[in-house]
Amino acid sequence: MSTPIPVIVVGALGKMGREVVKAVSQASDMSLYAAVDRKQVGEDIGAALGLGTFAIPISGSLQEVCLAAAQEKQAVVMVDFTHPQAVYENVRTAIAYGVYPVVGTTGLSPEQIEELAEFTDKASMGAVIAPNFSIGMVLLQEAAIRASQYFDHVEIIELHHNQKADAPSGTAIQTAQRLAGLGKTFNPPQVQESEHLRGARGACADAEIRIHSVRLPGLIAHQEVIFGAPGQIYTLRHDTSDRQCYMPGVLLAIRKVTQLKRLIYGLEKLL
Ligand code: NAD
Repeated sequence: MSTPIPVIVVGALGKMGREVVKAVSQASDMSLYAAVDRKQVGEDIGAALGLGTFAIPISGSLQEVCLAAAQEKQAVVMVDFTHPQAVYENVRTAIAYGVYPVVGTTGLSPEQIEELAEFTDKASMGAVIAPNFSIGMVLLQEAAIRASQYFDHVEIIELHHNQKADAPSGTAIQTAQRLAGLGKTFNPPQVQESEHLRGARGACADAEIRIHSVRLPGLIAHQEVIFGAPGQIYTLRHDTSDRQCYMPGVLLAIRKVTQLKRLIYGLEKLL
């Protein structure tokens, strides 16, 4: 049997990070190498998450962890679920030390993703950035791509818990990008519109696709893609009821990232 893949989880105490810590520690082909967070530094990660003692103290410095990882014989993977303001520097740090990034944190700009792709190209390393690691969302996007060949009008509504820092969601932006990638412009104007309250018609993404963001306690992560045509509405909807839904996608990315030689954006490219 091959040696387990060592995994650094950054944002280990967060809503997503704690699921990743759990999933990695339960996967027979992976081992938790380090847990990084800004909070509870020095505490044992297992104990902090109520999982028993792991003998892995939470580190407050990704750089120190990556420095140690760079001495390992085996490739080390970093999984980042932190904050839009932290993720870019975290990924740069990982690449600088030869640690393979798997990134779930949303909010990276297209320019930042482009720059990170250049860094991985220079280092001849793989990286995976996926704004959504659930298989259901990949399937929804594929159904939307098929539907968009037949419908000229589409809008996206994304709904999330009110602790989410970025809007619209990375998934909604990516969904619009994937539809726009077909080379078609949607929603040809029917009337001269005027907004009496700013933002009433949502944000205008690629190919004139509107995105509306809802933030409420009680929600986790949900998305609707609504197609309209005379006499019919076709609605695709994905609902997350537990963050476990992202784990098969995250584990898949951990298993594949060290075999890649460039940055991959989107889970669909790994399926
Ligand atoms: P959260 O606020 O619950 O957790 C974030 C954690 O990161 C916290 O524990 C925080 O202390 C830590 N953190 C922040 N900055 C840090 C830094 N510089 N270094 C180390 N730790 C740091 O957030 P969450 O709900 O877990 O979401 C995290 C990110 O993941 C968000 O951007 C969210 O949109 C995204 N997300 C992506 C997917 C996906 O499938 N790709 C799914 C859900 C959430």
